[in-house]
Amino acid sequence: MNKNIAIIPGDGIGPEIINEAIKVLDAVGKMYGHTFTYTEVDMGGIAIDKWGDPLPQEMLDKCVASDSVLLGAVGGEKWNIVPGHMRPEKGLLRLRAGMGVYSNNRPAKIWPQLASASPLRKSIVDKGIDFIIVRELIGGIYFGEHKTFEENGEQKAVDVLQYTESEIERIGRIGFETALKRNKKLCSVEKSNVLDSSRLWKSIMIKLASEYPEVTLTHMLVDNCAMQIVKDPSQFDVIVTENMFGDILSDEASMITGSIGMIPSSSLGGTSCGLYEPIHGSAPDIAGKNIANPIGTILSAAMMLRFSFDMAEEADCIERAISVILDKGYRTADILPADENEALACTKIGCSQCGDLIVENLRKE
Ligand code: NAD
Repeated sequence: MNKNIAIIPGDGIGPEIINEAIKVLDAVGKMYGHTFTYTEVDMGGIAIDKWGDPLPQEMLDKCVASDSVLLGAVGGEKWNIVPGHMRPEKGLLRLRAGMGVYSNNRPAKIWPQLASASPLRKSIVDKGIDFIIVRELIGGIYFGEHKTFEENGEQKAVDVLQYTESEIERIGRIGFETALKRNKKLCSVEKSNVLDSSRLWKSIMIKLASEYPEVTLTHMLVDNCAMQIVKDPSQFDVIVTENMFGDILSDEASMITGSIGMIPSSSLGGTSCGLYEPIHGSAPDIAGKNIANPIGTILSAAMMLRFSFDMAEEADCIERAISVILDKGYRTADILPADENEALACTKIGCSQCGDLIVENLRKE
């Protein structure tokens, strides 16, 4: 099969981790007889520097025309002073909206080899952490009107949070469908004790539940959910929530699994062309040092094979290779055990070595 992938290295560690994902994609393509071609796209700080725009229209067009998009990360201190509409992150929001990817799926799963890297107590981790957050991605407060103005002699800022019934229904369906494929438990998270948009959200989830009788639907307020994720994450199977709540909860969920560097994500809309990216940012503090963990990006590439290209075997092959290198004790700096004795039993590796080891350990089953 031939597939054209739009590649967005972006800023900070973006180019380093993307290089490793391409290495792995090329190796898997060779093993299974596929050809992956890559179209490089500028987005974020690099696009601001080159084109004066975080996502020029022709760059967005390249993404929409591709079979799928693989993104590193964007942003950095250098661009923090540019006006809001020109920030690197605006490029990302425009990309998501332009591709129409309204559903962001982030697995929070602990790799058994990394259980000791979780900041949670062993007794909590031992109960198991394996859930998915389905986050609405192109609506809500991030896409509402933003303005700052003067009123009664002081500055006032307004950000509008709005959702339509149809926006909630389409993400609700993804939540129910995802639960159907897993343990059939869906928790809808909102703030219906305060927000109108959340009351509408909850009522639509209740309406949809009658179409999915096999799924057990529960409701949770977002503040309680933040607490429950650290108190007893084993209770969750699928969480469905709106954009900003999902943004915050999924970072929290990533941390309890050990490292933000391990978590992939997929964003899909009405077509098979998806956007795949690790959930972390551009990590400027470690950029250019060859110490970033590329596994979140490599797992994102595996998700692309599974969900957009229907290549489940190839995706399994990548995930197995990652498990093997973890079994062998290879660790990037972020996932080295904190305990000195445990760390001694591991081999510390850099970003490019991590990619090479994954390639070396790719095996067909
Ligand atoms: P971050 O995720 O970049 O970094 C948080 C911490 O995690 C840092 O200590 C970093 O070194 C570490 N980390 C992140 N990824 C890692 C990896 N793969 N391997 C090892 N360690 C890793 O978040 P931040 O520092 O809040 O943001 C930095 C920049 O990234 C900001 O400009 C922010 O706006 C941007 N950002 C971009 C995205 C995106 O492109 N999707 C997402 C979040 C933040």
